[in-house]
Amino acid sequence: MFGHGTPPALHLSAMPELPEVETIRRALEPQLRGEHLVDIEVLDARIVQGDADLLRGEVLGRPLVDVGRRGKHLLLLLTEGKGIALHLRMTGALLLSEPAHSSRVRAILRFSNGAQVFFNDMRRLGTITFVEDVEAYCRRLGPEPLSDEFTAESLARRLAGRRIPIKAALLDQHLVAGVGNMYADEALFLAGIHPLTPASSLSHCQTVSLWQALREVLCRAIADQGASISTYALPGGEKGTAHERFNVAHRKGQPCPKCGAPLQRLMVRKRGAYFCPACQPLAD
Ligand SMILES: [Zn+2]
Repeated sequence: MFGHGTPPALHLSAMPELPEVETIRRALEPQLRGEHLVDIEVLDARIVQGDADLLRGEVLGRPLVDVGRRGKHLLLLLTEGKGIALHLRMTGALLLSEPAHSSRVRAILRFSNGAQVFFNDMRRLGTITFVEDVEAYCRRLGPEPLSDEFTAESLARRLAGRRIPIKAALLDQHLVAGVGNMYADEALFLAGIHPLTPASSLSHCQTVSLWQALREVLCRAIADQGASISTYALPGGEKGTAHERFNVAHRKGQPCPKCGAPLQRLMVRKRGAYFCPACQPLAD
């Protein structure tokens, strides 16, 4: 996909977030639902959190009732409330056919209908975890931003008393699950909020704007099948197009789509933040 030789430059801030994982979920669900796993071939033992034999013993042969997601975690939901959590981290991809760079495949999941899912992962940080109780696992992952439980009021409650920059707060998965660097920047731009604004200092109006903006950027990116700035691809190998509509993310120096001012990038707790200095002023 990237030709031979040097791997593509990796954008640390372009790892799969909620829209990318949701796109993968939607592509895999019709292929896998109702089937069962017949084999998990582990090519890199570090990918399995816990014991690989225990994982196989618990999941092989158990019907897969659905393919779910919470935040950035893809969940293969099995009977009796058990499941398998797949976390792609930086460069993980789930592909339905063997990729050209087969040395990057860390595990192969084989299903009763012959479907195979290749866990491809250049940086080798992704994980496969057996989950005894999916409900409890999801509760620990923080609120799902596209669910009814995530309201402007619940966001305000979680921001209250937190003096960290709002950009850093949005990356805290316990505040809201699934938002990463790209969509946090996009949401802050839509809401007109500077990334360094202390989380606890947002006005009610700003909090409502941010809540709306988060849902808007995530839904729009799902409709565009995710952002392929880095290694992200759909299970069939196609790229998403969400990045083509980004207003600020990865657009340093380009004109702001609202006011024309050059977009800037600053560091917030070691992560780059893209923003418009005119549309997202920092209050005194
Ligand atoms: Zn602007």
